[in-house]
This record gives sequence, C-alpha cells and structure tokens, in this order.
Amino acid sequence: MAYDSNNIFAKILRGEIPCDKVYEDDFALAFRDINPQAKVHTLVIPKGAYVSFDDFATTASDAEIGGFARAVQAVAALEGVTESGYRLLANHGKHAHQEVPHFHIHIAGGESLPGLIA
Ligand code: AMP
Repeated sequence: MAYDSNNIFAKILRGEIPCDKVYEDDFALAFRDINPQAKVHTLVIPKGAYVSFDDFATTASDAEIGGFARAVQAVAALEGVTESGYRLLANHGKHAHQEVPHFHIHIAGGESLPGLIA
C-alpha cells in the first residue's frame, strides 16, 4: 500500500491540524487520542512516512526504529504509567481495522484495562 500524504496524521505532522501534543523529538511525535479508550490513551507516530508497523519494520532505518522505540518509552514515562502499567497496540491493515494509514502505536493505561482496545 502506497503512503497517502493526505492522511490525518501526516497533516498533524506538517502542523496543518492541531493536536494535544505530549512529546516530540527527531524520530517521533506523540499526542493524545481524540477518542480516548482509557484514562491515558496516547498515540506515538514516527516522523517518517510509513503506512503501518509492517511498512515501518520493513523499510525504516535502524536509527528510526531505535529512536521510535525510545520515544514510546519516554511518552509512557511522561504520561505517568510506567509504574502502574500500560498496553501498547498497533493496528496493521484491514482485519485489525487500522483507520489511519500512518504507523502509530497506542499507549493505553491510567487504569486497569479490560480486553484489548480497538
Ligand atoms: P487505528 O484504528 O489504530 O488506526 O487508530 C486510529 C486512532 O486515531 C483512533 O483511536 C482515533 O481516535 C485516533 N484519531 C483520529 N484522528 C485523530 C486526531 N485528529 N487526533 C488524535 N487522534 C485521532
């Protein structure tokens, strides 16, 4: 699947649409989910143009993958869920109902979580 540079997270990265920003570095941007499924529900996206985890893991550089993983950890710490616990989730493709075709990881926590968030 080709990357669509008009997807909503691409627009957020370009500053065309606002977001509730939590963190930003060279590799990643993190912002709160607009429709939270838990008390803490934050999205972390890479700065590069990757459709999904599958695309990211296949084509991103080691530096991007490492930087992104470190950013996810930093965001969890900033959101205060490291001690209490959190869930990471990334949807890839149709069966997972991925809505936004720019790779993102959901960080969910802040309370005891039920089954998997969608
Ligand atoms: P997914 O199904 O994994 O693609 O999840 C996409 C997520 O992006 C959903 O949880 C949406 O609530 C969230 N979302 C969509 N648009 C925005 C936005 N403008 N700002 C923040 N979160 C958004």
